[in-house]
Amino acid sequence: MTGSPFGPASHPETLDPVTARAYGKINAFLAVGPLQDDGYHDLVTVFQSLDLAETVTLVPAEDFSVTLSGRYADTTVPLDSSNLGLAAVLALAEATGTTIPVEVAIEKNVPVAGGMGGGSADAAAALVAYAHLIGCTDRDLIAEVARGLGADVPFALRGGTALGTGRGDELSPVLGRGEFHWVLATSTGRLSTPEVYRRLDELRAAGSSTTGADAGPGAGAAEAGPADPAAVLRALGTADPEALAGALHNDMTDAAIDLLPDIAHVMDTGMRAGALRALVSGSGPTVGFLARDHTHALEIAVLLEASRGVRQVVRTTGPAGGAHLVPPPAAA
Ligand code: ATP
Repeated sequence: MTGSPFGPASHPETLDPVTARAYGKINAFLAVGPLQDDGYHDLVTVFQSLDLAETVTLVPAEDFSVTLSGRYADTTVPLDSSNLGLAAVLALAEATGTTIPVEVAIEKNVPVAGGMGGGSADAAAALVAYAHLIGCTDRDLIAEVARGLGADVPFALRGGTALGTGRGDELSPVLGRGEFHWVLATSTGRLSTPEVYRRLDELRAAGSSTTGADAGPGAGAAEAGPADPAAVLRALGTADPEALAGALHNDMTDAAIDLLPDIAHVMDTGMRAGALRALVSGSGPTVGFLARDHTHALEIAVLLEASRGVRQVVRTTGPAGGAHLVPPPAAA
């Protein structure tokens, strides 16, 4: 980018880089209300953060910019002010009247556009890092800026397990116990979240989507579940993956499969590999498979590796934490 939107640099060479980390997520429960006049849908969702970290380092510089590295650095991620990491820095700079430009260096370990909140994690990590860099300790202001950046950003800030209502950004903590093992199959196709919402509205208007119970050949068995957030909350409190498997639910499943039919094939493959349950992650196309334990996750991952429509298979656990500063390496 050229030209700081907030005036000249205030001696960036005097500041050290700051690094923060935030995590991707899966929606263990996602119920989507009808389309509202303002174009949004009310959601009831249960988020769980996953141990897939986005690491954001802010390097004081002459101007604002963004760079990418890491497993999922790819050309579809914007490098201008629409990048959520840079957008977060610019929003906090504006809210605090700050003029310290930085390079936002993002190490991406969350699949892009997979319904896993990687961009939101970048925003959350960038907010924590920039707040530290400029000495902003106003948590309410940071929370307000987070909400303005996107519905999933407040959860990426908080992490753990939480119930989200409204647009998913009104959060209540959930007392979870234990660790859950997930295998994630990222797709060779891409889905845009607004497009999946649009298709869900169309399918509902046509009377051909209910709640994910008709998720395509074989996938119905994998995905159909009671639309009861209380069941998920209870299961998360038991640390019992079998109980959680029975309660997972996603209203977006039909629409995601309608747009990208390979998702149903991937779900079938994971279920045949013995997964306790298949769950489209948010608006997809990543599919999460719940495993009993570490060994079970390894078995499922091996069988999924060769599946049609699968780009990458990633094993992870949840819950992970919220956005936090990463201390600089100790001087040698
Ligand atoms: P959503 O929160 O919309 O469900 P997602 O979790 O499916 O998103 P993300 O990887 O967060 O997927 O990004 C979705 C889109 O946002 C990308 O295709 C990209 O164009 C844009 N984007 C903006 N900033 C970022 C970022 N820092 N990392 C990834 N994508 C970004």
